Amino acid sequence: MNIGICLNRNDFMYDIHSLVKSFFPDDEVSIYTEEDEKRCAEHRDLLFEIEIPEYTDRKTAKNSLKKELYNLLSDYTGRKLPWGMLSGIRPVKIPMKLLGEGAGDREILSYLQEDYFVSPRRAELALQVAVNERDVLAGVPLDEKSWSLYIHVPFCPSICLYCTFSSSPIGVWASRADEYVDAVIREMEERKELMLAEGRSAAPVTVYIGGGTPTTLTEDQLDRLLSAAESIWDLSHCLEYTVEAGRPDSLSPGKLAVLKKHGVTRISVNPQTMNDDTLALIGRGHTAADVSRAYAMAREAGFDNINMDMILGLPGEEESHVRNTLRILKDMKPDSLTVHSLAVKRASRLRRTIREDREADRNADYGNYGGLVFENSESLMDLAAEAASEMQMRPYYLYRQKNMRGNLENTGFSVKGRECLYNILIMEELQSIFAFGAGASTKYVYADGRIERTVSPKDVKTYLERRK
Ligand code: SF4
Repeated sequence: MNIGICLNRNDFMYDIHSLVKSFFPDDEVSIYTEEDEKRCAEHRDLLFEIEIPEYTDRKTAKNSLKKELYNLLSDYTGRKLPWGMLSGIRPVKIPMKLLGEGAGDREILSYLQEDYFVSPRRAELALQVAVNERDVLAGVPLDEKSWSLYIHVPFCPSICLYCTFSSSPIGVWASRADEYVDAVIREMEERKELMLAEGRSAAPVTVYIGGGTPTTLTEDQLDRLLSAAESIWDLSHCLEYTVEAGRPDSLSPGKLAVLKKHGVTRISVNPQTMNDDTLALIGRGHTAADVSRAYAMAREAGFDNINMDMILGLPGEEESHVRNTLRILKDMKPDSLTVHSLAVKRASRLRRTIREDREADRNADYGNYGGLVFENSESLMDLAAEAASEMQMRPYYLYRQKNMRGNLENTGFSVKGRECLYNILIMEELQSIFAFGAGASTKYVYADGRIERTVSPKDVKTYLERRK
């Protein structure tokens, strides 16, 4: 279905589009303004006409328009959304701000529920995350010149069905991976001079090497990259050093020894699901037994802070599959668990396949992949939250993305003291992040709240050419 929105002026278009998409995630949404009067009149599918009145205060006008639109869409669909009319990716910013202003729990919960129509359970979750974030952040240096380091390694053993990260199969790039490591090292050396000239120190607060899957590099390449990071930057006071080792099929005792030698404090070994049929369907190229083996190997290597990621809403997964994954993970006892809601983004193979199916058959259910339904719900997310609580974990960071199944969220749970500080810093935009590598996005966070970004070319070939 193509849903049309006719507006009498060109204001708040992004907010209106996001809110309508939250109710109709699988449909096209077209916005028509005054200039599009003819196209609006010709729109054949569902059409909403919205009158934006004259206003003096933009924020108040936007909120009252969103409330009105939320109620209209909620009445039309007969549904309420877990996060109400909040369509942004950082809902925890609201309780964080209110806590900072001295508001009490009751006041914050009723504000979220009454002013934004957030469900009681989601409001409670946002508040818990805000409280735990404050706890983790206590004593962390957050002045304008403080910063964290991110290094991107854009290679994976294979590309997952839902992936939209900047990543390519290592099989294709293995012969140029050394060149890539050299280019990242050069980029760090060059940028360091500029950063020192700006009055920053060479000492990041946290280090995060992500991707892709950094452990697709060989032992020697990993050793060179981590040695260079150590000699270019001062890591002696770094509070946390994470390397994503997400794909179990990329790990070996030798690579884990390299990470250990360089002082890496936290790694992730990500199952996404412990059901083999689903793993095969989503193109992971490994089994649940491989996850268990890689995890045991990492414990054996001495890692005492291991995160595991899982995704809810994967094709064909029902409550019984989720229960099975949670049961196995509970036995494994990771230190943190990040629970994602599947997001079907435009650039993913999953979305392209669905679109092709749909073009072939206009009646096809948009929520189907190979005839399998993929849905997520508040009750499944709550199941994961209960399991995390049974593992003595608490929710400590949360974010949302576009096109998430069930309109839900991604939540990081952790036992106390094993939280990922970097995740909070980047998600709440509390500190500048200097990022290196193809597709890496450097974010400058200024004391007055301004944020600026610069992004490296996502395409590895272009990145390598520019860094010559
Ligand atoms: S492991 Fe992550 S980055 Fe790599 S292909 Fe899968 S989703 Fe993408």
